[in-house]
Amino acid sequence: MDTILVVNAGSSSVKFQVFAVEGEGRLKRQIKGQIDGIGSRPRLRASGADGNTIADRAYPIESVPDVPSAMAVAGAWLREENSINPVAVGHRVVHGGPDHSRPVLIDHGVVGRLERYISLAPLHQPHNLAPIRTILSNSPALPQVACFDTAFHRDHDALADHYAIPYQLHAEGIRRYGFHGLSYEYIARRLPQVAPDIAGGRVIVAHLGSGASMCAMKNGKSVESTMGFTALDGLAMGTRPGQLDPGVVLYLLSEKGMPASKVQDFLYRECGLKGLSGVSNDMRELQTSTDPRAKFAVDYFVYRVGLNAGMLAAALQGLDAFVFTAGIGENSSSIRALIAERLGWLGVTIDAAENDKHSGKISASNSKIPVYVVPTDEELMIAQHTLALLMSRQSANPNRARAS
Ligand code: AMP
Repeated sequence: MDTILVVNAGSSSVKFQVFAVEGEGRLKRQIKGQIDGIGSRPRLRASGADGNTIADRAYPIESVPDVPSAMAVAGAWLREENSINPVAVGHRVVHGGPDHSRPVLIDHGVVGRLERYISLAPLHQPHNLAPIRTILSNSPALPQVACFDTAFHRDHDALADHYAIPYQLHAEGIRRYGFHGLSYEYIARRLPQVAPDIAGGRVIVAHLGSGASMCAMKNGKSVESTMGFTALDGLAMGTRPGQLDPGVVLYLLSEKGMPASKVQDFLYRECGLKGLSGVSNDMRELQTSTDPRAKFAVDYFVYRVGLNAGMLAAALQGLDAFVFTAGIGENSSSIRALIAERLGWLGVTIDAAENDKHSGKISASNSKIPVYVVPTDEELMIAQHTLALLMSRQSANPNRARAS
């Protein structure tokens, strides 16, 4: 059976999923796993198609000190214990830079170009590229595909793509890229099935997870995003502040004497819900906490979603539907209800019972704006892109030997 491996590598974890390729290009998830605690307390965990645990084992720190070694451990486990020899590997790569508006088949030249974007996403890009390099050198014939978080937003109008800084810096790559593009693309493909009436209209999609952003879509295409040059901008997140006056960064550097690396760490790891509450970066914990600052952090999160919805509705010049997705958006009926209250002025009314049931459509029948909950699936999106590129490569050259 042909399988596609999807890899999402971060600084301390490598997440992976295996999809079986069935008839007519359909994909079926077989294995979902991750190695986390890389360099500290490495652990491999994996579940099968029905969610049952198929691996849970710890490794000594010296056998999994970095991402390439984690990739080697995961690869050996897949090959030797599960007989998985994928026909292709799809990777999540956070930054495609100015040029990539769609996934791309990887070769050494592509890796070289993507390395140029390390400075645009220093916390993610190097880790995304590490397993790509490992596979390129160990299995050079195995097709690999890079799928970018930025790609879905690349067709933004210039007005949405620029900061008000000199043009030269835009040419150098300082642009409002936007992120979570694989999630938004998946939602855009689902909407014609789950909500055909509004799929071609003006839709705000709120991807509310540990990382959070919102996307304004017109006819299934992104026209505006709350994120920009990096994934720090926009909404308050688990540990990131969201929109912040750059003067605050200058203050930290010049008045507080923080070195740039410390400011970077602070902005990515110490702010957002965690910084505001002093309790947790996790929405569930905040909602059960009795600490007033935890409640304040939740209120702040909701307030900023409301503010940004106003901005995106202005970008769309109106609104036909609102969609919730990701960890908080899919699972927290209370946060959805609080956000919906904030969107009342736009014509949003929630049906409390449908919302509590986590139904697909949660707006009241008299709501001017329909509201949906659509579970996202970024890994399936990556697998679909990988399969599509593989098939187009094979149809362009039917005699090409299949890698395995
Ligand atoms: P993600 O990054 O998409 O996996 O989302 C992670 C976030 O979703 C964390 O802040 C979780 O606390 C939050 N989350 C998951 N389930 C729930 C829930 N039932 N209620 C509130 N927040 C949740």
